[in-house]
Amino acid sequence: MRDLISDNEIENYVKAGRIACTVLKEVESLVKPGAKLLEIAKYIESRIHDLGGKPAFPVNISINSVAAHYTPIPSDESIIPSGAVVKIDVGVHVDGYIADTATTISLDDSYRLLCKATKSALEKALEAIGPGIRFSEIGNIVEQIIKSYGFSPIYNLSGHSLDRYIIHAGEVIPNHRDRLILGSFKSGKAYAIEPFATNGRGYVKEGNDITIFALKPNPKKLSKLSHEVREIFERIYEDRKTLPFTLRWYVKEFSIEKLRSAMRVLIDNGLAIAYPILIEINGGIVAQYEHTIILTSRGEKIVTTLCY
Ligand code: MN
Ligand code: MN
Repeated sequence: MRDLISDNEIENYVKAGRIACTVLKEVESLVKPGAKLLEIAKYIESRIHDLGGKPAFPVNISINSVAAHYTPIPSDESIIPSGAVVKIDVGVHVDGYIADTATTISLDDSYRLLCKATKSALEKALEAIGPGIRFSEIGNIVEQIIKSYGFSPIYNLSGHSLDRYIIHAGEVIPNHRDRLILGSFKSGKAYAIEPFATNGRGYVKEGNDITIFALKPNPKKLSKLSHEVREIFERIYEDRKTLPFTLRWYVKEFSIEKLRSAMRVLIDNGLAIAYPILIEINGGIVAQYEHTIILTSRGEKIVTTLCY
């Protein structure tokens, strides 16, 4: 593992962060009752391209008790319901350097406090981070702040280290005081901090909907599959490598039926993974805020996903 970060790498992280922040800010005004999720997703993803980035993952638009992992499907007709609590989670990469950031828009005033608790947990966590600070200490701060507002953190969702072209690079930054996590923040590395809070029990489970996938290359296994499945794998791999994707991005080239059946075969053969939607187990309403930071080799702390 590298422990240093070059100026060029920092520049790419900061550029990705600025794009992500700009897009997230722009999209807030589009999140209104009746707005189509598909239109919001298309807007975000096309703006990322316009500003010189690429999506690090399909934009997640998660409503009410859905905490994460919903991106509109190609024929999506769903709209923002009135009074919804909407999480928008955007990932941008520039040459593989990823900025991961999320915000919550509450269309119901009674969830303002839930949002405030989550945002405050993120801000206090960011203030406390520095080289040598333990991940569990940050989890403790997140947990204490969210609980002080009378809510629960989501215990089985966490922040993560980032690496080039890798969103979850192995290290976990918990949203509670998890003493089993022994790691600490290191200079020269990037991290995403993402508290989730809920008025439910504080755990998510997998739902039935699957809208996000990623490939797991294995040439030997791939060579045994049909030409049609291989063609789809190769097209997506060329575009995404192992970064997450949505079938929505490929429906101009392949029919949705072919894409869906190829994904089933790839998953069954260990060549792809699915990310089911994550739902709060008690149907609690969920809020999320997220920023990406880098700790430079000189010990500076840069929040890449703030609009400066
Ligand atoms: Mn995110
Ligand atoms: Mn993240």
